[in-house]
Amino acid sequence: RNVLVVGSGGREHTLVKTLLASPAQPRVIAAPGNAGIAQDVPCFPVAADNIPGLVALAQTEKIDFVVVGPEVPLSLGLADKLLAAGIPVYGPTADGARLEASKIFTKQILLKYNIPTAPAAFFSETAPALAYLRTRQIPIVIKADGLAAGKGVVVAISLAEAESAVRDMLEGDRFGASGHQILIEDCLFGEETSILVVVSGRDSVILPTSQDHKRIGDGDTGPNTGGMGTYSPAEVVTPDLLARIENEIVRPSVNAIADEGIQYRGTLFIGIMLTPSGPSVIEYNARFGDPETQVVLPRLATDVLALLWAAAKDQLNTIQLSVRPDYSVCVVIAAKGYPDAFPKGDAITLPPVSALPAQTFVYHAGTAQNASGETVTNGGRVLGVTSLGSTLREAADRAYAACEKITFARGNHYYRRDIAAKQLTRRA
Ligand code: ATP
Repeated sequence: RNVLVVGSGGREHTLVKTLLASPAQPRVIAAPGNAGIAQDVPCFPVAADNIPGLVALAQTEKIDFVVVGPEVPLSLGLADKLLAAGIPVYGPTADGARLEASKIFTKQILLKYNIPTAPAAFFSETAPALAYLRTRQIPIVIKADGLAAGKGVVVAISLAEAESAVRDMLEGDRFGASGHQILIEDCLFGEETSILVVVSGRDSVILPTSQDHKRIGDGDTGPNTGGMGTYSPAEVVTPDLLARIENEIVRPSVNAIADEGIQYRGTLFIGIMLTPSGPSVIEYNARFGDPETQVVLPRLATDVLALLWAAAKDQLNTIQLSVRPDYSVCVVIAAKGYPDAFPKGDAITLPPVSALPAQTFVYHAGTAQNASGETVTNGGRVLGVTSLGSTLREAADRAYAACEKITFARGNHYYRRDIAAKQLTRRA
C-alpha cells in the first residue's frame, strides 16, 4: 500500500513512524514533512494548505491512502477532493471539519442533542454582547468563532477583561474573519482531559486516555501553548468515568454528527472538562491532538494502518483495539521564547539513537535542514520526546534523561520539568 501523510509536526512524525511499523509494510511518503520525517520517509515540498497540489501529488505518486494530520487542509476540503478523485482518506470532509473550524456550529450541535456543555450565547454586535456579560458570572469565557490556532479564547477573570475581549474580537481586526462572531460561554471548573475517538459513520473506537499540559510554565503557569507535554493513560479518567464519558458524550456525539448528515471518517478529538457535576464538552477537534498523538499511538498494539484504513473504508466494526500495558510520557522541547517571539535556525544536537534510554522516540515538529545539512530549529515547538515505561515514573525518567542529552545552539531550548508530575504526586 502507498500511504501519504499530510502535515509537518510532531503528530505527523508519530503517524509516519507508527505506519512504518505496520506488518503490511506500506510505502509511506509525507508532504511537506520536516527534517525528522525526512530521515524516515521521502518528503515532498507541497504545503499542507495547497489542496490541488496535494491531490496532484497523491495521483502522481500512485497513493492509495491519505492520512491527514492538521485541521487546515481538512477545513479547506482536502478529503472531499481526494474522495472525488477516488482516493481513500482518513480525515473528515469539510462539513465534518466545521466541528473544529466553527465553535458556534459545534455549540449548536451540542445544545441541540443535549450533550453536556457549558451554556453559551452567540453575538456579532458589541452592545448585546456587553449586555449579556452583565447577566453572567465572572470568570466568563469569550471565544472567536473560527480557527485562531488556540489564541481565540479568553477566560476572563474580571468584567473589564471580558469587555475588552469582546471589543477586541468584534471590533478589532486581530482575529480577521474568525472573530466576526463570538460565543460567550459560562466558565467550567475542573481538570481537562482529551478523548481521541476514531470515527467511521456511527461506529467508533475510543483510544487510550491522555492529558496535555497547555501552559508554558511549570505548575501550569504562564500563557497557553499548543501543548508542552502529555502522558497516557490519564488515570484521572477512571474506568467508571470513562464509561460515563462514552455514554453521555462519545456515543451521543458520534450519533449527532451522523444525524446531521455528516459522513465522518477520521479522528474526533473531544476536549472535556471533568467538572464536579460530571464531564462536559469544551470543544471538538477534527484531527489527532498534538502532542496527545505522541503518547497515544505508541501504546497501541493494534496495527494503526489497519485501524485508520478500516475507518476510511467503513469497516471499523472489524477492529478490536488492543493496548499495551505500558505508560507513556511526551516532553515537548520548544525554542526559548515560545509562545511569544522565538529564534529559528539554531542547530539541534541530538544523541545517536543508541545513546537514548530504552523505548524512547524523538519526534520532530518544528525542524528543518539548513544549507550545510544540519538539523536546525524551525518552529516554536521543536521536538517531542516520548518514552514508554512499565510505570509512569519510569516513562517520565526516561523521557527526561533523553531531554538532558538534547541541546539547541546558544542554549535556546526550553521544556517543562513537571510533565506527568501531577499524576505522580496524586498517586504517591
Ligand atoms: P486549542 O486550539 O488550544 O485546543 P481552541 O482555540 O480550539 O483551543 P478551546 O479548546 O475551546 O479553544 O479553548 C481553549 C482552552 O480554553 C481550553 O483548553 C480550556 O482550557 C479553556 N476553556 C475553553 N472553554 C472553557 C470553559 N467553558 N470554561 C473554562 N475553560 C475553558
